[in-house]
Amino acid sequence: MEEIVVKVPPGKVRIKEAFCPRGCSLIDPRVKMSGQPAITARLRLLGESGLIHLNPYYGVFEYRSEIPLENGDVVDLFCPHCGTPLTVEQQCGMCHAHMFALQLPGGGEVRACPRIGCHNHQLTIVDLDAQFAEYYEEETRPKM
Ligand SMILES: [Zn+2]
Ligand SMILES: [Zn+2]
Repeated sequence: MEEIVVKVPPGKVRIKEAFCPRGCSLIDPRVKMSGQPAITARLRLLGESGLIHLNPYYGVFEYRSEIPLENGDVVDLFCPHCGTPLTVEQQCGMCHAHMFALQLPGGGEVRACPRIGCHNHQLTIVDLDAQFAEYYEEETRPKM
């Protein structure tokens, strides 16, 4: 299948399903951000561990963390259910921290930098139609 790296405007695409490498859901319906279920991971920083909730809208860098974070901190992210690391080999092109990945249905991925304050991210979508259905629904189309 063709792999497409897409640039999308912030706040337009909502990540409705995301999984750890072993297939656990990372969406937590009990925690809402922008009114939608948040993406939840376990983070570790300097020996401390807690949950972090991420805004499910792609490109919106809002988070809620049980552990106080400062700009420049690089967090390690894990699946909150099975503990598998979400970190991947790829390094951030802006700050060289190892990126983390969220698996999307249909073989897509969101990769993002775990350094607080670094806004590097990319969305790799394999099944373009399914992922973008919602995006196009929300767009205001020009009237003919
Ligand atoms: Zn898992
Ligand atoms: Zn970075």
